[in-house]
Amino acid sequence: ATMPPLLAVIANAGRHGVLVKSAVAMEQLGTATRVAFDKTGTLTEGIPHVATVRVLSDTPGADGDSPAERLLGLAAAAENPSEHPLARAVVRAAQRSRLPIIPAWEFGSVPGRGVRARVAGRWVEVGSPAHLLAERHRGADRRAMACGDLRDGPVDGDDDAGVTAALAELEVSGQTAVVVRIDGRVAGVLGLADRPRPDAAHTVAHITALTGATPVLLTGDNPYAAAHLADQVGVDDVRAGLLPQDKVQAVRALQTEGQRVLLVGDGVNDAPALAAAHAGVAMGQAGSDLALQTADAVIVRDELSVVPAVIALSRRARRVVI
Ligand code: ADP
Ligand code: MG
Repeated sequence: ATMPPLLAVIANAGRHGVLVKSAVAMEQLGTATRVAFDKTGTLTEGIPHVATVRVLSDTPGADGDSPAERLLGLAAAAENPSEHPLARAVVRAAQRSRLPIIPAWEFGSVPGRGVRARVAGRWVEVGSPAHLLAERHRGADRRAMACGDLRDGPVDGDDDAGVTAALAELEVSGQTAVVVRIDGRVAGVLGLADRPRPDAAHTVAHITALTGATPVLLTGDNPYAAAHLADQVGVDDVRAGLLPQDKVQAVRALQTEGQRVLLVGDGVNDAPALAAAHAGVAMGQAGSDLALQTADAVIVRDELSVVPAVIALSRRARRVVI
């Protein structure tokens, strides 16, 4: 006699805009002791905009009337095949400047790191400073980039002090900095700004009040941008600079401490962590197919406040069952 009420609750969740994939998942959702959130696209609107373009090395001969336009145009061409929110922002910025988006070849992307593609005869890479600059300092084999690994080696003439200053300027202001390399050389830095979702702070507080679970932020972004956002939405436990597999490790570490982890992610890079968590909720609109397959529940309506609603439903379902 337990199934009918549970099914009723799952159906009810559907009316709230949440697809719950199993009765077990429905029960797990209500028992979390840690609620881990992805940042970009989950706690933030995920529609960042390019706020800053810093050119460190011009690319003569590329399309565009100014060094900044040439940098933006090449970056947008490489980002165009990507569905990542940062990539969409770079493409929109180029379109707003009326730059043509030239075709990209041999496109490759590495989750949590960035993209690379061949654009008008040049290798263009756009990605996280931690990754693109660390590779440069490690001096990895330049030719590896052609294999789609976003690996590259040092190129003489890079202005390290210029890169460091540009990154510091963007990061202390809470912008997400991405590095643009052209033919292995750091050509510039883009600063992207994103807003918290209007219901993020309220949702975090609501979940804490409802469950007593401690909110945690798991993000691939830099510690400054992470802390800036965490402050705005009321999360104290912040873990930044995480690759997708680091998010899995973070979830497992919490589980090893005996915590029951509910992960809320936007899915583009979060599929492995969604699968590792006790319960995973994917924000459906931005979520990739993979995340939709691995998550236990999918928020079809693009509203974070649905998460506490479904947790409340889950807890009610448990009371009915027990
Ligand atoms: P989050 O955990 O905040 O959602 P992601 O894991 O999606 O962040 O990405 C982590 C970092 O990797 C970004 O802040 C950015 O520096 C870099 N990155 C990932 N994908 C891209 C991309 N398509 N273009 C530029 N940078 C990217
Ligand atoms: Mg994300």
